[in-house]
Amino acid sequence: MKNEDWIKIYKKAYKIIGRNTPLAGDCGLLCNNACCQGDSTSGMLLFPGEENIFKSQKHSEIFSLTPLHVDNQLNTYLVVCQGECKRKYRPLACRIFPYLPIINTNNEIEVIKDPRAFSVCPLVHLQNEDFHDVKNESFENSIYEAFSYLVQYDYVPEFLNELYKSAREYKLTRDIFLDSKNTPG
Ligand code: SF4
Ligand code: SF4
Repeated sequence: MKNEDWIKIYKKAYKIIGRNTPLAGDCGLLCNNACCQGDSTSGMLLFPGEENIFKSQKHSEIFSLTPLHVDNQLNTYLVVCQGECKRKYRPLACRIFPYLPIINTNNEIEVIKDPRAFSVCPLVHLQNEDFHDVKNESFENSIYEAFSYLVQYDYVPEFLNELYKSAREYKLTRDIFLDSKNTPG
């Protein structure tokens, strides 16, 4: 796949998600923008081929990229921002947070709450009725549509599987840690 093709693919995915965000209003007001801290412990992973977008001059002024090795075939980049950005330059990981697209046991895309978001985002702790009609239902649908499109491309399915695996491990470790802290010793 040529670099220009990847750029077109991700521009299309960004366009499908468009201006959709989890709530009708600015959810950052609920948590003081907890998911935008811009430090090296809160970087975002790029999806396969998305790095081609981030090699542009504009992106390199805003983001630092560190290559990461996932396994024999999969590589990615950790992107760290400065804690604020123009929305049009955000990586896909930011556009879909706090959700995670997975490939379920029926081999279909399913959009779930990202297990890694439970330590950061208040929204994933709410039931549907708690949103009092401010939840943007189009958000999850647009993520579903974007990934139903992306999953046909090289390494995207494998990457989604790896991401889900590591997100579950992250949550499991966190839950064990919290349980041990809450257990009277
Ligand atoms: S942590 Fe959740 S509620 Fe806060 S800004 Fe991010 S997505 Fe919105
Ligand atoms: S790139 Fe933008 S949306 Fe993503 S964490 Fe940084 S400031 Fe937040």
